Amino acid sequence: MSESLLKNYINGEWQLSSASEQQPVVNPATAEVLAQVPLSPASEVEQATAAAVQAFQTWRRVPPTERVQCLFRLKDLLEAAADDIARLITQECGKTLKESRGELQRAIENVEVACGIPTLMQGTYSEDIARGIDEFMVRQPLGVAAAIAPFNFPAMIPFWFMPYAIACGNTYLVKPSEKVPLTMQKIFELIDQSDFPPGVVNLVNGAKETVDAILQHPDIRAISFVGSSPVARYIYAQAAANGKRVQCQGGAKNPVIVLPDADMEMTTRIVADSAFGCAGQRCLAASLAVTVGAARADFTEAIAATAASRITGNGLEADVQMGPVITAQSQARIEALIQTGADEGAKVLVDGRQPAIAGLEQGHFVRPTVLQDVPTEGEIARTEIFGPVLGLMHVSTIDEAITLVNQSPWGNMACLFTSSGAAARKFRYEAEAGNIGINIGVAAPMAFFPFSGWKESFFGDLHGQSAHAVEFFTQTKVVVERWPKEWSRQF
Ligand code: NAD
Repeated sequence: MSESLLKNYINGEWQLSSASEQQPVVNPATAEVLAQVPLSPASEVEQATAAAVQAFQTWRRVPPTERVQCLFRLKDLLEAAADDIARLITQECGKTLKESRGELQRAIENVEVACGIPTLMQGTYSEDIARGIDEFMVRQPLGVAAAIAPFNFPAMIPFWFMPYAIACGNTYLVKPSEKVPLTMQKIFELIDQSDFPPGVVNLVNGAKETVDAILQHPDIRAISFVGSSPVARYIYAQAAANGKRVQCQGGAKNPVIVLPDADMEMTTRIVADSAFGCAGQRCLAASLAVTVGAARADFTEAIAATAASRITGNGLEADVQMGPVITAQSQARIEALIQTGADEGAKVLVDGRQPAIAGLEQGHFVRPTVLQDVPTEGEIARTEIFGPVLGLMHVSTIDEAITLVNQSPWGNMACLFTSSGAAARKFRYEAEAGNIGINIGVAAPMAFFPFSGWKESFFGDLHGQSAHAVEFFTQTKVVVERWPKEWSRQF
């Protein structure tokens, strides 16, 4: 792959950025520089927004049944290019090809759901709210909206928002993570072939300066953000101060509870996939496993063996089960946090620091790591590591486990492994997290459900995907209407 300078896509055309700064896009498995990404200045956000404002005037008048035809075309194009896109995701993000294909599938499913917009955005009608008076509610698009995305799902995450926004008649800006901009570059080549009118969907590459320009632009009516909680909090506050609609999905520290009656073989396999899949760089990764009573010994032994045997390497290779973490800084941060865990008194049962992976000496790898007896009050019990590190804790009862879950500042996901229906019901009823798994390790909502983070994991009210997205990207208009009989012509 040549080390090209990536372009923005504005008003239906590819444009070279005037950015004075650019950043290398690096393959985390090999440290090869794949491309340079421009850190676009505010003037390019301005240009893209102006195009989107202009396009909105006609796009909102296109019947929803016609608008979704562009999405049907995009779905076909995404499916036809799935192998190429998956390869790109793996090259710039590090996850395995299987994980990349799975991610893309989730993106496509959001296009499919958004194709139902003629039904999803229907209004409501009440006849005779008073004598001869009717009242109805319609949903109208907002105008221009924007997504600011993180590095860990370069294809999927913009699709939690964009298909719904444009299907509802809005026009759109996507700002991908500057660490993984190649996937959106490729997807925008397909958007370019999907017959959207110019200006309906725009791509602006960049980092903080670009984001700040989005936050400050008076014509951008709504912002969807996914990323770390400190940035989520900042975006939420700034967007709200500037009078925008905003939804911000943040970080996580997800607990899984293992009861003694769980199927230990299945539980171990599923928890390992959750903790170490995508090298732990998933907001729905299990990062604390809490064993209850007699589950401790069996689970500890089994998870340590599974972690130690996981094949780590370049995600492009068929037998590899786990790829690298995103950057050298990330690797250093994860290794430092493992040390913090050890300093706090946890035992490093499986140590994945500084792995030697033949032929990939420049890559940013941490192998699966298991910390035993993580202290409840320590830093490791509360800090998002965002790497392949699973902390183990132990309690005596399910009530203690639920208390642990609910004491956490995070609320993205909590899971229970059990064969008891009553325990499962108690857990899903009482656990304070927005996505719950019962014998599931990555409780990722399908496109027709909202992605329901809580607490420090989400700032806002309406989540991404599904009916929530339709609500977020439309404003309701209520009409109260009287047509006196005497005004009617007599036929
Ligand atoms: P990040 O917060 O560093 O970056 C996210 C986006 O914000 C990027 O587009 C980046 O350019 C921009 N950004 C970064 N710093 C900024 C600043 N100071 N001002 C303005 N914009 C800024 O997140 P990341 O490292 O790319 O992604 C990992 C994080 O995302 C993890 O915390 C993970 O849990 C979280 N995440 C959450 C979900 C969810 O659904 N809750 C999903 C995926 C990832």
